[in-house]
Amino acid sequence: MLPPVRCFTCGAPLGHLWEEFKERTSSGESAEAVLDDLGVYRYCCRRTLLTTLTYIEEIAKYSIYKKYRESVILKYYHQIEREEGV
Ligand SMILES: [Zn+2]
Repeated sequence: MLPPVRCFTCGAPLGHLWEEFKERTSSGESAEAVLDDLGVYRYCCRRTLLTTLTYIEEIAKYSIYKKYRESVILKYYHQIEREEGV
């Protein structure tokens, strides 16, 4: 995942803030404090940096969940087929 060069909504440059934001939040500082400190006040820009941080983990979680869900749905359909004798 590439860091966001600009805010997707307002176009403000954010690329130069990404490394510091990533380092400080991953070392335990609260994202809110870091964003205030970096001077990122608009909520669209805050959203852009915040969602980038969790993007990969969210996608990975979803893909695992999706596989699990598909297996549950399949099992359920097979059960219905057996019960109805289709
Ligand atoms: Zn913005």
